[in-house]
Amino acid sequence: MSNNATTTSTDIFEDAIKRLDDAFRYANIDEEALELLKHPKIIIQVAVPVRMDDGTLRVFDGYRVRHDDTRGPGKGGIRFHPQVNLSEVKALAFWMTCKCAVVGIPYGGAKGGVIVNPKELSRLELERLSRGFIREIADFIGPEKDVPAPDVYTNAMIMGWMMDEYSDIVRQRTPAVITGKPIPLGGSLGRDDATGRGAYYCLKELEIKRGWNPSDIRIAVQGFGNAGQHVARLLHDDGYKVVAVSDSRGGIYSEEGFDIPSLIKIKNESLHLKAVYCHESVCEAVNAESVTNEALLELDVDILIPAALENQITVENADRIKAPVIVEVANGPTTSGADQILKSKNTLIIPDILANAGGVTVSYFEWVQNKAGYYWSVEEVHSKLQTIMSREFNAVYDLMGKHGIDMRTAGYAHALTRIGAAIAAQGTKSYFTEKN
Ligand code: GLU
Repeated sequence: MSNNATTTSTDIFEDAIKRLDDAFRYANIDEEALELLKHPKIIIQVAVPVRMDDGTLRVFDGYRVRHDDTRGPGKGGIRFHPQVNLSEVKALAFWMTCKCAVVGIPYGGAKGGVIVNPKELSRLELERLSRGFIREIADFIGPEKDVPAPDVYTNAMIMGWMMDEYSDIVRQRTPAVITGKPIPLGGSLGRDDATGRGAYYCLKELEIKRGWNPSDIRIAVQGFGNAGQHVARLLHDDGYKVVAVSDSRGGIYSEEGFDIPSLIKIKNESLHLKAVYCHESVCEAVNAESVTNEALLELDVDILIPAALENQITVENADRIKAPVIVEVANGPTTSGADQILKSKNTLIIPDILANAGGVTVSYFEWVQNKAGYYWSVEEVHSKLQTIMSREFNAVYDLMGKHGIDMRTAGYAHALTRIGAAIAAQGTKSYFTEKN
C-alpha cells in the first residue's frame, strides 16, 4: 500500500482520539471517563536483539501499549512492519478499546508493534525475533492482563511461537495468553477468516436494508491479505462483483469482476498479485488492467473496502472517492479530515471499529475455549459471530438514524456508552460528591 510517511505521522493517535469528542454528545458517559480514554494506561518500549543467520547481531525496536483495561484484559494484535511507530501503536490500541466495546466483548484495548520488514528475515530469524519480543514484554501480558493476537504481517505460526515462549517463561502451558494460534496449539476454528467474515455479516445486514441484488453491486478491495481475501471471497460466493483488488505492489481491475478463488490461489502461491499478469491460466481467464493503489480508491464502484493500512483516505483524495459505501476492514484507513468531506457527500462508512471487529470477536471465542478446555465446531463459531455482528451492526445503524449522525460517530457513541458504564460502576465525581 502507499504507506505515505508524511500522513502516517506522529499525530495519528491525536487524530484518532478526536473521534471521542464528536461521539461524546450522543453517549452516556461521564466527562471524567472521556478524559481517561485520552491517556493510554501503559506504554512499553523494548529493544529485541536477534542473532541473524550470517552471525551478525541486529536490534529491533518494539512497543506494547495497553490503552485501557476497565472492561477486561487488554486485547489486540502484534504488527511487524517497517513503518511501525509509537503513535500508530497507541492509536491501534485505542481503536481496540473501542472495538471490543462496540461488539460488547469483555476486553479493553492493547496493541504491539515491531519495526521490521519480516519479508527480509529468514524463517529462523523470524522465530528468534517473535520469541525475543515475547521475552521482553512477558511481564506485561497474560490471560488476565493483556492478550495479543495477529495483525499486519504476523500469522498463526508466529502466535504459536509466542505462546510457546510465554509458556516456557511462566513454566506452564498457557494457550489463553495469545489468540490466532494454529488449531493444533489451541487455536479456534473460524479464526482465520473471522475479520473478513465479520465485515461480510455487516454487509449482509446492509444488503437487507438497501434491497441490493448482489450481481448489480461492484466492489473494489484495497489490500489482499488475510482480511481482504476473505471478505472478497465471501461476497463473490454470494454473487457480488469484485472488480478491483490490490496488494502492496499494485492492483488489477476487471469490468466483469474477478474469479476470487483463483486470485487467492495465485496470490498465495506467488505471494503477489503481479503474478496474475504472467500466470498463464489466469491471464487467459481474466481480462485485467493494472491499477495503482491510489487509483483503486477512486474507482466508480458501489462499495469500497480498504483492507490494508491506516491513512489511505485523507483530505487529499476524499473528494475524489466515488463509492457511496465504504467498509473499513483495515484499522484507521480514513482520517478525521477525510471524514468531514465524505460526510458532506453522504458516503455511508461502516467504521473500522465495527466492520473489522469479527477478528477480535473470534479471538474472544478462542480465549474462552482455551480457558474452558472445550472446543467448538466451526458452525458454532460462525453462528455466534453472526449473532454478535448482526446485533451490533443494527444497534449502531439505529443510533445513527436516531440522532441523524454518521455511522462512525454512532459506533463510537455505542462503544463509549459501554465503557462509560464500566467506569461509572466504580464511581465518578457525582457519586463521590453526593451528600449521604
Ligand atoms: N489485529 C486484529 C484487529 O486489529 C485482531 C486483534 C485480536 O484478535 O485481538 O482487530
